[in-house]
Amino acid sequence: MINQTAYELGSNRSCIRELFEYGRGRAAIVGNENVYDYSLGNPSIPAPEAVNQAIRDILADTPSLAVHGYTSAIGDLATRQAIADDLNERYAAGVRPQDLFIGCGAAPELVAVFKALAVPGAEILAVAPYFPEYKPFVEGTGATFKVVPPDVPGFQIRLSAVEEIIGEHTVAIILNSPNNPAGTVYTRQTLEELAALLERKAAQFGHPIYIVADEPYRELAYGVEVPFIPTIYRDTIVCYSYSKSLSLPGERIGYVYVPEKATDSAALYAAVAGASRGAGHVCAPSLWQKVIARCAKLRPDLEAYDRNRKTLYDGLVDLGYEVAKPDGAFYLFVKAPGGDAVAFSEKAKQKDLLVVPGDGFGCPGYFRVCYCVSYEQIVKSLPVFGELI
Ligand code: PLP
Repeated sequence: MINQTAYELGSNRSCIRELFEYGRGRAAIVGNENVYDYSLGNPSIPAPEAVNQAIRDILADTPSLAVHGYTSAIGDLATRQAIADDLNERYAAGVRPQDLFIGCGAAPELVAVFKALAVPGAEILAVAPYFPEYKPFVEGTGATFKVVPPDVPGFQIRLSAVEEIIGEHTVAIILNSPNNPAGTVYTRQTLEELAALLERKAAQFGHPIYIVADEPYRELAYGVEVPFIPTIYRDTIVCYSYSKSLSLPGERIGYVYVPEKATDSAALYAAVAGASRGAGHVCAPSLWQKVIARCAKLRPDLEAYDRNRKTLYDGLVDLGYEVAKPDGAFYLFVKAPGGDAVAFSEKAKQKDLLVVPGDGFGCPGYFRVCYCVSYEQIVKSLPVFGELI
């Protein structure tokens, strides 16, 4: 009498977790410093000191009941106002506090948005390579998950592939830029061309096709523009998270932005709130909402990631690896020598080098390297990559 889908989700560890656990086991035997673990996207730079200071200030100047009490389900007005002000300052986007729903990070926000869009028969597309959790998130709402094949080797979006797969039941396409796992950033041109295609298809099918912009890595870009998609395509819903931008993945805080100008925006916003309610959402953590109200304008110091990125990219290219241009996030996506990324990952494992095959991201033949690790690990592991090619 147990739900089989839930059972399977709960008992099958993801390939990433599997590798990570393997690495912990090996570290206990050979020592932490001898395992080159590139499996997990856990930020390796600490949260900015201003975040910790904000917590101290809040505790000092706010009554305890207000710090720890329930907030409204959609989030504190002060928090939503601070985020709206920041977005308007950066993108002149016309964001209002009532367009924002404060959530517990991108994962539950995405689930709420998918649920809000999951009319009977709905199909939701993801562009490969994609974050593997999208599939259970989408399928959990009853919608069908469909994959747009990858645009190899540049990892932008192949419009002909979108055109082929999009249909009358398509309600949304998920975009994740900067991208996990490819580390690429979709250019303004890519997004404008996609927007034109979606507008044409929405007119043809007589209903909106939303872009769901999954943006945990928005602030992690190295000298390139990350276009704010609602200013390019009106039917965009943003799921934002502070997990990576402020290195707060365990605290669970972010927001959904439903632009006023999006089709059926008021109903959509209500459905996002309703879907969250149906999943047991009460409010995002109150203390963290108050922190964001004070820190909405903070940006991460990317120096350490950037140094890792350049050293690893240059090192791998010098060794003869083919690597996607890494403009954002903290991932490199590398073509597996020999073409079989699962076999390569297994071979690497024998040398205590842990990289994730792209198969689970909808992109076989490539492997992902998470470079949110120590610089020493990168330097020490390059000779091992050299032995593997
Ligand atoms: N989306 C992508 C692309 C991610 O890489 C992650 C986490 O790694 C998430 C969503 C979930 O992030 P959060 O911690 O905000 O739930």
